[in-house]
Amino acid sequence: MKLAVLPGDGIGTEIVAQAVKVLAVLKSEGASIEMEYGNIGGAGYDAEGDPLPESSLKLAQAADAVLLGAVGGPQYDQLDRPLRPERGLLRIRKELNLFANLRPALLYPELAGASSLKPEVVSGLDIMIVRELTGDVYFGQPRGVEVRVGPNGQSERVGFNTMIYSESEVRRVAHVAFAIAMKRGKKLCSVEKANVLECSELWKEVVAEVAQDYPEVELSTLYVDNAAMQLVRNPKQFDVIVTGNLFGDILSDQASMLSGSIGMLPSASLDANNKGMYEPIHGSAPDIAGRDIANPLATILSVAMMYRYTFADAATADRIENAVKKVIAQGYRTGDIWTEGGNKVSCSAMGDAVVAAM
Ligand code: NAD
Repeated sequence: MKLAVLPGDGIGTEIVAQAVKVLAVLKSEGASIEMEYGNIGGAGYDAEGDPLPESSLKLAQAADAVLLGAVGGPQYDQLDRPLRPERGLLRIRKELNLFANLRPALLYPELAGASSLKPEVVSGLDIMIVRELTGDVYFGQPRGVEVRVGPNGQSERVGFNTMIYSESEVRRVAHVAFAIAMKRGKKLCSVEKANVLECSELWKEVVAEVAQDYPEVELSTLYVDNAAMQLVRNPKQFDVIVTGNLFGDILSDQASMLSGSIGMLPSASLDANNKGMYEPIHGSAPDIAGRDIANPLATILSVAMMYRYTFADAATADRIENAVKKVIAQGYRTGDIWTEGGNKVSCSAMGDAVVAAM
């Protein structure tokens, strides 16, 4: 298995190093894993003046899967937009055609106290959010800021983006979501804003058409404002959620907090052949970078997702996830999930604990 490893910026290098320890265990047991490193984000800009250097893109294109840390940092905020770290991330998703972003929000029972909601509201939480990743307002044209003359004859600056989805884009991500629902609780909620947006109206119609192929799955729909409310009112009503790029970005961050910390949540971004890029959902956390205190579990769990989705090896995925469950049960806690009585450990010590649990 050829793996492109792109640690990126900030805590990216620290957390990816822990995930690589897990891969090293599997390698030492005979798994054939070839890892090659590349730069992305600010690291790409620093090394080659490009947040997605050609060499990194080629590496990712040639690999079976990509393991990514995170990108970004305040030192890059003044760069021209196309040179900013986040553009590297958007580009690699688009170039690899990773249209389906899978973001599980799962609460480990021992971390119920770390959630901002009452334990009885979140205990047993297990949601999968499927976010469309290569369309919508993030990529739609035209976009920009320009000076326009208003109805009163005065000129002013206007900012604009285009929310756009084609039928085929909605259909392919809907199929991914229905297929996942079939393997889970057979419930799918499609989230849009069809009461206001034509783009959402089409989304809703196409999802309903795709539902005909999955009669066993119970399909429901929610407007995004209501979905946001339901996620904090009664999150356990959800099994799988499918939504567009913008709504999914917001809802998945919201769902992440239900599970205690953004440092616990992995993600997978898949193309039509299950080639994938795997990364924690959080960013580069410049406020804690370089101090060996970040939580590496989201990145380690991203490796588990890689085994489940790209390598179709559920046994290894289960093994990694069980090792994470074990270290949580044993009381190991990085600062973000630490509560009174927990054994506070560093990022690297948490990686070592997972390796020992494996
Ligand atoms: P962030 O996710 O980096 O951090 C938000 C908060 O969560 C911070 O307090 C941080 O310390 C904490 N946190 C995040 N991950 C953690 C972990 N593993 N362990 C412990 N604590 C953790 O979001 P931000 O601060 O809004 O953004 C920082 C930079 O990251 C920005 O440049 C932003 O553009 C970028 N970013 C990148 C990605 C990505 O690479 N996918 C995603 C979001 C933000």
